[in-house]
Amino acid sequence: MQLVFATNNSNKLKEVQSLIPNHIRLLSLKDIGCSEDVPETQLTIKGNAIQKVEYIKSQYGFDCFADDTGLEVDILNGEPGVFSARYAGEQRDANDNMELLLNNLSDTPNRNAQFKTVIALHLNNKLETFTGICKGEITKTKHGDKGFGYDPIFKAKGHDKTFAETSLEDKNKIGHRGKAVRLLVDFLNQL
Ligand code: IMP
Repeated sequence: MQLVFATNNSNKLKEVQSLIPNHIRLLSLKDIGCSEDVPETQLTIKGNAIQKVEYIKSQYGFDCFADDTGLEVDILNGEPGVFSARYAGEQRDANDNMELLLNNLSDTPNRNAQFKTVIALHLNNKLETFTGICKGEITKTKHGDKGFGYDPIFKAKGHDKTFAETSLEDKNKIGHRGKAVRLLVDFLNQL
């Protein structure tokens, strides 16, 4: 089986590739000649994941899956959520986003948050979605240089290191994307 993973994010590709069984050949957007930005203009994480796969299927004809992820902070009523990538502006800069979030939280003691990943799969003209959630908290300062996005300021529940101080293997074991990908793989294995 071959499937397109509709992402231009090399970090996501690395995380997902290591969890997909060898009999599934992953194609990148580059492999199918797609160099444009895939639209993600919906108001929910799930809506964006579905929009991406429907776009690739309709424009390029490939079966594919896509992930959309957001960081939901309790005391900010779930923000930045679906706006996580452009929280601090259209430049989509991870450091700007983290600075803004840390400023908005200031010294508040309730720093509970969760990462949510929804993977949408467009396969054999059917649509499926798989959700992975990782609960944790926002730290007061940045720690670590692994990973990407908000990883330096997120600690998973029960762990004393941020995701940016965690190996890719361990992040995949406890993280939102790892959970969603395992549901996807279970589904593909049952076909
Ligand atoms: P998207 O799913 O690529 O739209 O990601 C939305 C935002 O969340 C971007 O700012 C990403 O950098 C960030 N993000 C997505 N996945 C992760 C993750 O696993 N760790 C930290 N930040 C992430």
